[in-house]
Amino acid sequence: MPHTLLKPKLNGSNAFLEALGPLTRSLEKILENALEGRPLGDDEALELFHATGPGLNALACVADRVKRRRVGDTATFVINRNINFTNDCVVGCKFCGFFRSAQDEDVYHYTLEDIQQKTLEAKALGATEVCIQGGLPKSFDGFFYRDILRAVKQSAPEMHIHAFSPMEVLYGSQLTGMGFKGFLQMLKDEGLGSMPGTAAEVFDESVRALISKNKLPLELWAEIVKTAHRLGIPTTSTIMYGHIESPQDIVAHMRAIKDIQKETGGITEFVPLGFIYPNTKLHAEGKVKSGPSGLLDLKVHAIARLYFQGMIDHIQASWVKIGPKLAQVLLLAGADDFGGTLMEEHIAKAAGGTEREYLQPDTFVALIRELGLTPIQRSTIYKPIKVYQKAGA
Ligand code: SF4
Repeated sequence: MPHTLLKPKLNGSNAFLEALGPLTRSLEKILENALEGRPLGDDEALELFHATGPGLNALACVADRVKRRRVGDTATFVINRNINFTNDCVVGCKFCGFFRSAQDEDVYHYTLEDIQQKTLEAKALGATEVCIQGGLPKSFDGFFYRDILRAVKQSAPEMHIHAFSPMEVLYGSQLTGMGFKGFLQMLKDEGLGSMPGTAAEVFDESVRALISKNKLPLELWAEIVKTAHRLGIPTTSTIMYGHIESPQDIVAHMRAIKDIQKETGGITEFVPLGFIYPNTKLHAEGKVKSGPSGLLDLKVHAIARLYFQGMIDHIQASWVKIGPKLAQVLLLAGADDFGGTLMEEHIAKAAGGTEREYLQPDTFVALIRELGLTPIQRSTIYKPIKVYQKAGA
């Protein structure tokens, strides 16, 4: 939807937009609304996906301005460790390069002792969070999810446990016969602090039919997430973009997340996850030739900032998916969070990701300071733990 009707001269009512160059009337109106604190409507978000030239520059600048208004001249990170406890999985998502079958040579399963050991290593490095997710093995005891929580709490009672996607919760609830509400309550009672809002990918059913047809349907995903919120378990929210989805699909996905947030208020952040393609079936079958462009990365983060303003204050630039350099730049285009140190990362690496598995806190601090922002180490739920001085302070 390219814009052809250029306004000859902006009316000067908004000096900020005026300074950003000639914009179409339509784009100017959308960005003015955003600057006045109104979240984007679906059509407005869609229009911004077609921004180019000065319009694109204005989108990034307005997203940065709104970000600063919502969270200040800061950027955050969390010291955490990923623990992907098994790659044994029967689901077979075509976008996933991580899963193995039980017969594969390189299938692995961590024991509870392995998980405790990794938790203690993370604690020694200053981690406040362990992020635990895994595949869905065919032969599995659904109470293993509970036992993981017990094992972590036994070794490090103060560690925040951010664990188990809605897909894993569904699987555990089916294996134990508890129903997902009872299963979630049990997990909360055993120390689950929050949940990753993963396993959503892109909500459009025709997209999901191609990339992850065995995943749980959107309605069930939303029910599990809303139930978690009602039980006092916050979640993140995510989207996996840059494969076969369209801008319409991205906006519809964000709409679904916005609706959940309006109902429960339990979402802590939105995490766009750029698709990593090399070792995936989607790529092998020729359905996807590459991942997202830097341009799409920028648009998704900046538009998300404007779309969710007033509802979700934190937009994460996931360095392990898009690289620390681009993630750094996106902190000036609507994102306000770098994600975590991770310490180990199997999922992106198995899909062909080339980023490191560990970024040290000092690296985050340096990257944030370069931007003239104040670095803040945060908790999982965005409580400040350590506020650093910004450069030159
Ligand atoms: S994304 Fe998760 S559920 Fe899907 S195949 Fe990979 S490990 Fe299994």
